[in-house]
Amino acid sequence: MTTWTYQQWREYCEQLSIESRAFINGQYCDASLGLRFDCINPANNQLLCQIAECDSIDADAAVNAARDSFELGHWRTMAPKKRKQVLLKLADLVDQNATELAALETLDMGKPISESFNVDIPGSADVIRWHAEAIDKVYDEVAPTQDDVVAMITREPIGVVAAITPWNFPLWLACWKIAPALATGNSVVLKPSEKASLTSIKLAELAQQAGIPDGVLNVLPGFGHKVGKALALHNDVDALVFTGSTATAKQLLIYAGESNMKRVWLEAGGKNPNIVFADADLDKAAQAAASGCFYNQGEVCVAATRLLVESSIYDSFVAKVIEASKRFRPGDPLDPSTNMGALVDQAHQCGVLDKIATAKVSGAHLALGGNAALCTETGAFVEPTIFTEVDNAMAIARQEVFGPVMSVIRFENEQHAIQIANDSDYGLGAAVWTASLKRAHTMAKKLRAGSVWINNYNDGDMTVPFGGFKQSGNGRDKSLHALDKYTEVKTTWIDLS
Ligand code: NAD
Repeated sequence: MTTWTYQQWREYCEQLSIESRAFINGQYCDASLGLRFDCINPANNQLLCQIAECDSIDADAAVNAARDSFELGHWRTMAPKKRKQVLLKLADLVDQNATELAALETLDMGKPISESFNVDIPGSADVIRWHAEAIDKVYDEVAPTQDDVVAMITREPIGVVAAITPWNFPLWLACWKIAPALATGNSVVLKPSEKASLTSIKLAELAQQAGIPDGVLNVLPGFGHKVGKALALHNDVDALVFTGSTATAKQLLIYAGESNMKRVWLEAGGKNPNIVFADADLDKAAQAAASGCFYNQGEVCVAATRLLVESSIYDSFVAKVIEASKRFRPGDPLDPSTNMGALVDQAHQCGVLDKIATAKVSGAHLALGGNAALCTETGAFVEPTIFTEVDNAMAIARQEVFGPVMSVIRFENEQHAIQIANDSDYGLGAAVWTASLKRAHTMAKKLRAGSVWINNYNDGDMTVPFGGFKQSGNGRDKSLHALDKYTEVKTTWIDLS
């Protein structure tokens, strides 16, 4: 728990020295062309620093360093129990540097400091620790062949992994990629979002301190259409792992097809149905509907953005949800009592407000919020917003807003709820609230989503896989299933006759 006051966090942030260069082959360096881009604090629109703007020349340098380190094999061939020790040290260093990492995350992308410090940073350490602990406990296989043959099925690191990551949980989601990639012996080039690069840049220093050899982890800040594209088109990148929007995910598939057919693993968008039946614990469901939608300012791929409510309880349940949502109050992210921070930047704030305006025109009823919140003169804040009487055909029910906006949709029965829930391009998460075991199982089987939560919203831990059906992506992060992305399967058939 952060015990610091608002004033203490502010004073700490004022004296913070921010590393803003790329990290290639074990060294911080400027971008090859010397370009830099502005890093703006979205809570007050002030310049934090200027970050190295990498391009294709830097991508070449980082991929070469990663390739060389992979071929050299110090990391790749290290005994898993030794790789484990290095990664455990990295996890400890993340914990030891939690104050700085949390401050950087909050300054960079606007989330509340209490969440950066208590959730994101310990969560990142936990991901690294979990994969470290797992890696010397995974065995290969011997196939059940005829007696005069030994057929081994082994897994090998895939080679050079490029990880392109988003800005909503910057360090945490980067760790979802780099922890299993490093644990399995790969070399990595991490391209953080241009909207939130600072904790990824800092992580490189900690990785080196932990003992990760030079070239094994490189960090390239810069824009998606420049350095991201260069990595995605690079012929010496073996796998591309991504979290971000569905539009970018589709583009990455094209880049892979245009280049070396690198493996492409995608975690993309969501428009997640949260289905509440009349027999549920409605007080609990209302609290979860609010936090499921408004946590992290709604900038969550599995945010509970479509609330489906059984017709018989529609009005009374909506009233409970509105009440529960009022506890989310936008405020200065550096204040430890703030539970809703700034959106990532003003461009995103404008996009969210535009989608709210379109929803109003399309006939949805604005039941809460709907405006920019004026916490500071220039910050990118938006009020928690709820639309009722939404039709699933409306844009507000179909497009990802990625901000604090909930659409409430009425349904008549189980069949109707399933039909609305599955009528989406996405298939990331879904929840069902009911007291009926039979209904819970029936609904869970029929929902087309990578995660289904019964009587909770978005619970889970590192032991369960996370990922999407349909245009929410492919492959899975977290759990041992994540290792599939970072390894090739090899058959070795040995004739003993
Ligand atoms: P985004 O697609 O705009 O950017 C994600 C990353 O891709 C960034 O690093 C960006 O620089 C890079 N990029 C953009 N264009 C590129 C290109 N042409 N070539 C290579 N790289 C490119 O997404 P975002 O706005 O950062 O994140 C929000 C999105 O992420 C939402 O759609 C959200 O649902 C999704 N998301 C999904 C998950 C999940 O696990 N499924 C988790 C978090 C966020």
